[in-house]
Amino acid sequence: MLQTINVPKQGMGVEGPVQIMGAGLSGLAAATLLARAGREVHVHDIRNDSGARFDGDFQALENWSLGIDFFDQLKEWGIDSSEFKSTEFSVVDLIHPDDEISKAKTDGVAYRIVERGTSEHTIDQGFKRMALAAGVNIHYKSRVQVEDCDIIACGPKGTSAVAYGEIFTTKHENLITFQLNDKLAPGAYSYMIIIDGVGLICTCLWRKQSKSDRFLNETIAWYEEHYPDVDRQPVKRVGGKGDFTINSNYKSDGRYYVGESGGLQDFMWGFGMRMAVWSGVLAAKDILGECDYDKEVRKQLLPYVRTSVANRFLMNRVGDKMFKRMCKQWMRNQKRKGDGLAWISRLFSPTIAKRVIYRLVNRFMLEKDEKALGRGVRRMPFRKALKRDVWEPSPAAVAVGERWDAVRRSGGNTSFDEE
Ligand SMILES: Cc1cc2nc3c(=O)[nH]c(=O)nc-3n(C[C@H](O)[C@H](O)[C@H](O)COP(=O)(O)OP(=O)(O)OC[C@H]3O[C@@H](n4cnc5c(N)ncnc54)[C@H](O)[C@@H]3O)c2cc1C
Repeated sequence: MLQTINVPKQGMGVEGPVQIMGAGLSGLAAATLLARAGREVHVHDIRNDSGARFDGDFQALENWSLGIDFFDQLKEWGIDSSEFKSTEFSVVDLIHPDDEISKAKTDGVAYRIVERGTSEHTIDQGFKRMALAAGVNIHYKSRVQVEDCDIIACGPKGTSAVAYGEIFTTKHENLITFQLNDKLAPGAYSYMIIIDGVGLICTCLWRKQSKSDRFLNETIAWYEEHYPDVDRQPVKRVGGKGDFTINSNYKSDGRYYVGESGGLQDFMWGFGMRMAVWSGVLAAKDILGECDYDKEVRKQLLPYVRTSVANRFLMNRVGDKMFKRMCKQWMRNQKRKGDGLAWISRLFSPTIAKRVIYRLVNRFMLEKDEKALGRGVRRMPFRKALKRDVWEPSPAAVAVGERWDAVRRSGGNTSFDEE
């Protein structure tokens, strides 16, 4: 049963107990730092646990957008990365739209895969443990009003894009793939991750589709054909939405908007976890009098968000031909520089050209959110489907769908609304 809690309203400057809405990554990061500094902190979440929104999904902590390793950043903030399981990858199968498969490699860590959800080893539970150890009071199944909270950390509100995938068991060795194919993942990408006997095949839709399960079924069928050694035993389907916004104010009426509640997301590909934790840390530091949240978000995070808006604008204009050129460029660059991260890192880095593109396109790319009272929120709308998104599923994809239906009938669950 959902509890409704009346909390004492805070004034500007957050002098009494700090009230946080949302026990996800951004909310718990902020809570931990505040409690460690001796503040009384209450975190409220409408769900029954941290990570419940994801239920076993694998996600990638990207390690290319900055010169600094994300785990070094966590250490600097006092966040212990050994509290959750993470698996490092330095090689990824890059799948071109014409099905060529190249190896993108680096000597360092390209990304770390973490699990989201309520199992002990997930990143959500790791952050929860750190928060509890610091003395944070977490209230699950607790509904609070925005007006009663100091930090708003409740994840996506609107929908700019969706991603969904199938979790399976397999005997295949650890593997990660990244696929650019506009038919399987309209405007975005699909991927397969296998870690210690558990796999995920996921597709991201940056254009709104009817009968969207055909994209996942077709993607899985593609993997069955090209990675025949993956003895996939479907377990469940997972997914969710992403909310990409640019805000005029990240602190408004004395309230801090962090993580996806502040639209702090990667518009191009949706790598939002790093920014979620980072913004939570900045909000805590502001409350502790160590920085100015709005100013630091603009300085440290917004250049990357704006670059991702420019990248998204460009991505929206291309299809498989350009994706193929990108893959070739990436591989040529890797050969020249001896590091597969150099090209992708450049893609994510703020440049003068990207700044100019952002200035030119942001006004007509983003739509005003009238409900975000006075915060000046502009959202990237979920784009309409294109003519090329209408196609009949292959017989192999129909078979994938039928297999999933049988699993679902015998108890396989779905963590999102399939419609
Ligand atoms: C399918 C999928 C795959 C993704 N893959 C990646 C990836 O590979 N790499 C990456 O970096 N990012 C990925 N992301 C994005 C990433 O998950 C988010 O950017 C990140 O979790 C945002 O953190 P947050 O703290 O803002 O929100 P969350 O971590 O989602 O936490 C929000 C919390 O607020 C709670 N809540 C919601 N409404 C209320 C309310 N009214 N009151 C109280 N509590 C509330 C929720 O229950 C939740 O616990 C993915 C997203 C999706 C959907």
